[in-house]
Order: sequence, then structure tokens, then C-alpha cells
Amino acid sequence: MTTPDHPLDELDELASCRARFSLPEDVIYLDGNSLGPLSSGVVERVTDTVRQGWGRSLIRAWNDHGWIDWPERLGDRLAALIGAVPGSVTVTDTLSLNVAKAVSAALEMTPGRKLIVSDTGNFPSDVYMVEGLLRGLGADHEIRLVEPEQVLESIDERVAIVMLTQVDYRTGRLHDIDKITARAHAAGAVSFWDLAHSAGALPIDVTGANVDFAAGCTYKYLNGGPGAPGFIYAKPALIDNIQPLLSGWLGSAEPFAFESHYRPAKGIRRLRVGTPPVLALAALEAALDVWTDIDVTAVRRKSCALGDLFIDEVERRCSRFGLTLASPRRAVERGSQVTFKCEQGYAVMAALVAHGVIGDYRAPDSLRFGFAPLYLRYADVVQAAAVLEDVLENETYKRPEFQNQPAVT
Ligand SMILES: *Cc1c(COP(=O)(O)O)cnc(C)c1O
Repeated sequence: MTTPDHPLDELDELASCRARFSLPEDVIYLDGNSLGPLSSGVVERVTDTVRQGWGRSLIRAWNDHGWIDWPERLGDRLAALIGAVPGSVTVTDTLSLNVAKAVSAALEMTPGRKLIVSDTGNFPSDVYMVEGLLRGLGADHEIRLVEPEQVLESIDERVAIVMLTQVDYRTGRLHDIDKITARAHAAGAVSFWDLAHSAGALPIDVTGANVDFAAGCTYKYLNGGPGAPGFIYAKPALIDNIQPLLSGWLGSAEPFAFESHYRPAKGIRRLRVGTPPVLALAALEAALDVWTDIDVTAVRRKSCALGDLFIDEVERRCSRFGLTLASPRRAVERGSQVTFKCEQGYAVMAALVAHGVIGDYRAPDSLRFGFAPLYLRYADVVQAAAVLEDVLENETYKRPEFQNQPAVT
């Protein structure tokens, strides 16, 4: 696939970052919001951890290579990306599990209140986890899923927890963390923010917004790799009062004292559970090296420009095929993704992927495209829209091979 040049790429302050990734040449990757690509240092770092750490140091590596502290060491690097102070983030478990851990802590802070407010734009797993948590606790709380526009007005003195994902995974619609968190606090409720589609995509200031709990994953815009562990943040003033739901030994005060009963560790470490996934953390650390000199506001600026350009190009070329924008048109109201609704969405995306433009399909009718500014060029965005036009105009998507959905879309 030859991609024609675009003049904006010459002026792009992030253009040189593309060389930090190992991307297939025949692909335009618009799915970094779901699984970020391979950063160039990862293979070496993982190999080194396997050969030197595991292979030579063996069990001594937990101390000699500092493996035991990696969750908080990487947590501090994530903290810098979300406006958190050092010591308030740990990298552990999956995002889904971290949702349950944060929400259980928030429930303990709000006795007597029975309402959890979330919205219809939240990711299903977050809601499922809380449903399971409530069942397990035998709690009779109600999870109320309101429309995203009604969140603010739904927060009153009955609400225990406001639990939201900042960027809607389907449409990219962006919530105002400051305003909603302030409203939650004014009503005496606790806030939990899922930053899955925010971390590495936009500037976040959990400290400034006075967020109580937050969590996210590291395999989307942060490129930690498939199955990379999630992260969890707790406001420093709260950390030492949390009684962890999942009270595992590595979150206990002295794991190697092997005490008979659980006592929580001091600090964010208490939100750990069991043995850290060292090889996954090695990959993540190398992926985070890419970010050390990156200004997230520059990332956001380019992300907005890429999204705007894509919307213009797709509407100009493809409106006649019935595609409609499902994302907010104004860049300030969306995260780093753009979604179009399209009949036969699955088949159209499958045909696009076969032509080297990788986005994803979200049931029932959404074509979702993520814009990761560290490696995408303006030229890629224009070319992706041109390929989409081609697939629609020639009805390539009607071919039989594009009709059957696999397990993962
Ligand atoms: C991707 C995503 C998840 C996934 O959670 P895992 O436990 O990592 O599978 C959860 N919530 C949101 C909002 C997501 O976008």
C-alpha cells in the first residue's frame, strides 16, 4: 500500500516518535485504542528479563533485579501520565479486577447509601464486576445506568459511588472529570474513574480533579502488550484506610513473615494481590520508555487534529453510502477515537482490515477508529478514508469471506 504524503506531517512535532515502534509496513493501524503496537525496545527487554533474570539469576532476581518492586516502580511512571503523585498507583491484576477492588473500597466509605450511579456508555465489564461484587457481599445496592448527559443531575445525597469511564468505548464521548467529581463530592459520594481510553491519549489530572479512585489498562494507548496488567490509583489520603477486598499475601504488611492472618501493607501496595507477572511488566516498562520525553498535551493536540481530519475525509467521501458520525463532532468533546455507524458494519470492517486498514467493529453497527498520535501520520488518516470509500464504492464488503464474525471483533 503506498500512502501519498500529507503536508501536515512535515510540521508534526511528534513525527520522530513513529520510529520508536515496530509496525508492519503494509498496515495503517487505527486500533491502538484496543491493543497498542509493539514498541521497539520491548523484544530486547523481555529477552533480557528471560535470559538474565529468569535464566541466570533464577529466584534471586526477585531481589537482585528488584522484580518485587516493579508494580509500584511502574506505578510511579503511570502516575506521571495521569497527574498522580508518586506512591499512589500500582500496576497489578486486570482492569476488571481493579474495578471491583476500587468499588469495594468506595462502598466501605459510604455506609447507609445504596445507589451506584453509572451510565449507559460504561464498558460492560465494569458494570458486570460491580454486579458480581454486590452479589458476593450480599449488598442490596442499586446500580443505576443513566444517559451520559444525565449523570450530573443524577447525583444526589442518596448516591454512594459515581462510577464512570471517562471516554466512552463506543463513541469516544468524553466526560468532564473535574465537574462530575466535584458534584459527587458535594453530594457526599465517592468517585471512581475508569481511564482505559484516557491514559496515554489525553492529559489527565487525578490530583487536580480530586479523584478518589481510578483504574485503567496498559495495553491500549500505553502499548504494554496483550494481557498487560492494569493499574489502580487511590487518593493518597485514602490509601491507608482501605480494607482490600482481595486480601492477598503480596498486599499484606509482611508477606515473608507468613503471618497467619492478614494485615494490609502500608500504601498503595495493599491493592496488590499475588505474584506480579514479571515478563509482562518487563514489556510494559520498555513500552513506557517511549513516553519519558513526551508531552501529553502535544499528543492531545495531534489526536484532535487527526480525528478532525478523519471525520472530514470520511464524510466527504462516504456520506453518500449512508455512514453517519456517532462521535462528538467537536474534538474537545471526544477522546482519541472516531466512530461511524454503518449498516453491515462487521463486513465493512472485515473488508477494510483485508485492505490493510485496521480498526474494529463494535456491535451492532459501529466502525471504530483509534488515533494514536505517536505513530500515526496525517497521510495514514487520509489514506484510511480513501480505502473505506473504495470498499464501499466497490461493495467489496459483500464478499462471502467478510460475513462471518470470529470470536474477537
Ligand atoms: C478495555 C476496557 C476494559 C477491559 O478490562 P480488562 O480487565 O483489561 O479486560 C475495561 N473497561 C474499559 C472501559 C475498557 O475500555
